[in-house]
Amino acid sequence: MSGRSPENYRPPVDASYDAGQFRDIKDHCAVAGVIGPDIADASHTTYLMIDKLQHRGQESAGIAFTPQNGQSTEVMGGMGLVKTVFDEGEKARNPGSRAAIGHDRYGTSSVGSAEHHIQPVYDRYLALSHNGNFPTTDRLDEFLNRYDVPISHRNDTERFHAAMSERMRRGASLEEAMAHVLPMADGAASLLAMNKDVLVAARKKEGIRPLAMGRLGENVVFASETVGLPEGAEFIREVRPGEMIVADRRGISGIQSFQVEEGVEKLDLFEVIYFSSPQSELYGKKVADMRAALGAELYREAPTDADIVIPVPDSAIPAAKAYAEAAGIEYVEDGIIKDKSVKRTFIEPDPVKRREMVKKKLQPNAEKIRGKRVTVIDDSIVRRTTSEVVIESLWEAGAAEVHMGIHSPPIRFPELHGVDLRRQTDLVAHRRSVEQIRQIIGATSLSFLSFEGTIKALGIPAEKFATGPFTGTYPTEIGKIRDEIDFNQYDYYPALTASK
Ligand code: 5GP
Ligand code: MG
Repeated sequence: MSGRSPENYRPPVDASYDAGQFRDIKDHCAVAGVIGPDIADASHTTYLMIDKLQHRGQESAGIAFTPQNGQSTEVMGGMGLVKTVFDEGEKARNPGSRAAIGHDRYGTSSVGSAEHHIQPVYDRYLALSHNGNFPTTDRLDEFLNRYDVPISHRNDTERFHAAMSERMRRGASLEEAMAHVLPMADGAASLLAMNKDVLVAARKKEGIRPLAMGRLGENVVFASETVGLPEGAEFIREVRPGEMIVADRRGISGIQSFQVEEGVEKLDLFEVIYFSSPQSELYGKKVADMRAALGAELYREAPTDADIVIPVPDSAIPAAKAYAEAAGIEYVEDGIIKDKSVKRTFIEPDPVKRREMVKKKLQPNAEKIRGKRVTVIDDSIVRRTTSEVVIESLWEAGAAEVHMGIHSPPIRFPELHGVDLRRQTDLVAHRRSVEQIRQIIGATSLSFLSFEGTIKALGIPAEKFATGPFTGTYPTEIGKIRDEIDFNQYDYYPALTASK
C-alpha cells in the first residue's frame, strides 16, 4: 500500500522502457467503477467489485475516487491482491465518496518495474483504468508526437491517457477526449475514465475484452464481468463494442450512450474457454454452461474409454463434468487437488521453477487414481507445463492409462490482446503435430477439440470471436509483430487426436 498521495503512488518511471517491449506487457486485467446519486461509499463499493474480479489479475490493484468534497480525484493502490492492498477493505473506506473506478492488473515481472504499471493511470484531471492491450501504438504515438508529448517512458495505457489529457488541456471535456482518442487506438480496450464530474465507460470497436453495465439502486455500475457487479446490483447489458457511456451524479437517470466507432463484436474466445469466471455471462450465456457444452462436444469428437473422468482444477471443472456425463463415465472432481496457497504458476518465467510450482499446486489424489484408466480434462495447453506435470503425477499415483482431453483447439499462434502467449516458439503446438505433443507430455492419448466443434458447441457464430491464437487471424492492427509470426503451419497438422 503506497498511501494516498499521488507522489508516493507512482514510482519513478523506468527509462529503459521502449515501445518495442510492448509485446511483453501482459494486460489482461479487470476494471470496475460506480457513480450515482445515492452511493454511500463509491470507493468501498469499487473495492468489493475488484475483489470479485480478482481472477482476472493478481499482480496489483488500485482505486481512484472522488471524495465527499468532490473537488479532486484521489488514488490508492499497491502490489498484490486486492484484500492485501486495501487491508480487507478498511483502507478503501471513504464514506461519502461519489464516484470511483478500480483496476486489477494481470502482469508479469518481465518488463520494467511492476509498480510502474499499477492502474488507474491518473493525473489531477483524469483517472483511467484499462483492460486490454494495444499491440501497436503507431497512431497514438503520431498524435502525441504532433503535440510534443514525450512517449518513450509511457506504456500503452499511459499513452492513451496522455492523448486524452492533451485533448483536455486544449479544452475538450473528458467525454470528448475519449471520443477522439478511442478511434486512434489499435487493439483491445475496455476502459473506465473519470474526473470529479463524470465517469465514462468505453469499449474499443472489436469488444475483445468484456465490459458489463448494471444498476445498483439509482447508481450506475460497470465491471469487466457480470460476476464483478456488486451485491444487489442488476445486470443491464454489455457496453457495446465501439460505444461510450457517459454517466454523472444523476446515475441511471442521466446516462448517455454514444456510438463512437462502428462495432464489429470480436470477443476473445479465450474469455469463454479460460479467462472469465464460470459464473459470468457472455453473449447472453452463462460461461459455465458454455464450458460444459465444450466438454460434451469434446467427448462427441474424441471419445475415450476410461474408468473415471477428472478435471484439472479449477477452470476445467464444468467441461469435465459434462464430458463424463456425455460419456456415461464416473466423474471424480477431486482426482487432482489444488493447493490454493501456490499462486500464479502461469507467469513464472523460469520453466524449471514453473514446473516445480505446478507440481506442488496440483496434487494427485492417489486413492482415487490407483489402478484406474483416467481421462483428465483441461481447458488448454499453452507451453505444456501443466499437462506434462499432471500426467506425470497421475502415472506416479498409479493410473493404468492417462488420456488427456483439451476442450479447445491447439494454440499455434501468439495471443496479442492480453494473455501471456506472446512468443510463438514457446507454444508447444507450434510446428508440432498432436502425436508429437502426446509423446512429449507422456499421455496414453491426447485429444483437442476442433475449432469447428468449439464454435458449434457455443452456438455463436465464429465471426463474433477473436480467435488469433487458434487461427492466426487477428481482428485488429498488430503492427510490426506481424512480420515475426509464422502463419503457415496450421494446415500441416490436421489430426487433433493421437493415441499410443
Ligand atoms: P501451460 O502450463 O500449458 O503453459 O498452460 C496451460 C494451463 O494454464 C491450463 O491449465 C490453463 O488453465 C492455464 N492457462 C491458460 N491460459 C492462461 C492464462 O492466460 N493465464 C493463466 N494464469 N493461466 C492460463
Ligand atoms: Mg488450469
